[in-house]
Amino acid sequence: MTDTSPLAGKTAVITGSNSGIGLGVAHSFARAGLNVVLNSYTDRDEDHALAEKLSGDYGVKVRYIGADLSKGEEARRLIEDAGTCDILVNNAGIQHVAGIDEFPADKWDAIIAINMTSAFHTTAVALPMMRKAGWGRVINIASAHGLTASPYKSAYVTAKHGVVGMTKVVALETAQEPITANAICPGYVLTPLVDSQIPDTMKKYGMDRETAIKEVLLDRQPSKEFATTDQLGGTALFLCSDHAAQITGTTISVDGGWTAL
Ligand code: NAD
Repeated sequence: MTDTSPLAGKTAVITGSNSGIGLGVAHSFARAGLNVVLNSYTDRDEDHALAEKLSGDYGVKVRYIGADLSKGEEARRLIEDAGTCDILVNNAGIQHVAGIDEFPADKWDAIIAINMTSAFHTTAVALPMMRKAGWGRVINIASAHGLTASPYKSAYVTAKHGVVGMTKVVALETAQEPITANAICPGYVLTPLVDSQIPDTMKKYGMDRETAIKEVLLDRQPSKEFATTDQLGGTALFLCSDHAAQITGTTISVDGGWTAL
């Protein structure tokens, strides 16, 4: 992307972006000439070093702002401290797996707060910035679990369905403005979070790595391939483009056919 691109120089705030999908989106955005604000709940030297490395690699401004998005006031502070937010990517998320009758209440509260409510707070502060700038994009990283359910993931499925609903409301409230709001719904993506589940799965089912991936982890993903963080970054970048100006209030699945089943 050249400096004449309408996206060059705009600022994207990506929540939960020191790893996985958020970091993949950050790479795609920085490569396209966007300035990026990275975030997670930590505030370590390595977080700031990551921002510096991205900045050096792509020649754009990259900052890291630590904010624990389980707290509403921290989510709001993240956007206030960013100062500018042309593109907001609500990506931070956690998971816990247990039957609903034994699901720990503190895990429920944390998943709802981080995966869903944080997007309400960040969007509430970012929208006036987008209106002032006369352009904006809200991109919520939901999940195939925003459209379908699985057992033992009650909080996650509830939060992701909530995010899809909130996306539609934001789209309607901004429908006559140059702002769009959409949700990306990934199937399984090979991030450190998912990679770390593979050894346990191999052990539990007595399978080699490839069989455990295809038959257990990707059981519901008809392509039998993981989506990649780069593909997620490319999808988010497309939603920022002028080609996507009339795409609002919808979901885009990047799930190898999961939700077609
Ligand atoms: P990840 O663990 O690599 O990334 C999650 C990010 O959220 C990390 O940067 C983490 O530090 C951050 N985070 C966690 N708690 C936070 C908090 N309290 N405050 C601020 N940041 C916090 O996982 P990922 O797989 O990249 O997941 C990213 C998003 O994509 C999540 O919303 C997840 O639900 C969604 N998703 C992932 C997959 C997948 O297969 N990996 C599939 C569908 C949806």
